[in-house]
Amino acid sequence: MIEIIKADITDLHVDAIVNAANSSLLGGGGVDGAIHAAAGPALLEACRLLGGCSEGNVKMTAAFNLPAKMILHTVGPRWQGGQAGEKKILTSCYEKCLQMGLAEGATTIAFPAISTGVYGYPKRQAAEIALQVISRYQHRYKSIFCCCYSDSDVWIYKKVMESLGLS
Ligand code: ADP
Repeated sequence: MIEIIKADITDLHVDAIVNAANSSLLGGGGVDGAIHAAAGPALLEACRLLGGCSEGNVKMTAAFNLPAKMILHTVGPRWQGGQAGEKKILTSCYEKCLQMGLAEGATTIAFPAISTGVYGYPKRQAAEIALQVISRYQHRYKSIFCCCYSDSDVWIYKKVMESLGLS
């Protein structure tokens, strides 16, 4: 099932939450900062051992003080106008997280709107990619949450769900 919710992803009791990290994996602003602040300093220590992560890839850590069981850290593309492979990279982020979640036994997973904050990916186009990939995996999970941080993001996801015939 695909569920569009408005929430702080750090509050979610799911098997896996996805972090929109940067390639250093050493913390940042936005959702990354919120996850590090809520998970506690042990998360940074765990991330230091991972040696960074390239765009479109994913690395996993425990979730420490968070209610989730694991964190899948993925690095989305920075929007550069759309001709720099951004779509392929963002698709890969969602796919690799969903694949890793399955490999780790997750049945519930929550995604933030990867790349749509500081990285500037147009929100509707990003939601289309997110939902297209997620829809291909929806039957392999109990719930896949699109965790929006604002009412306007919820509205965008719901519109895209309708336009893709998913609602
Ligand atoms: P990026 O660098 O990939 O663009 P950001 O963290 O700047 O990442 O933004 C990604 C999305 O995460 C944005 O839609 C932002 O509103 C949202 N966001 C920020 N904080 C949280 C949070 N605590 N829970 C869920 N989503 C969040």
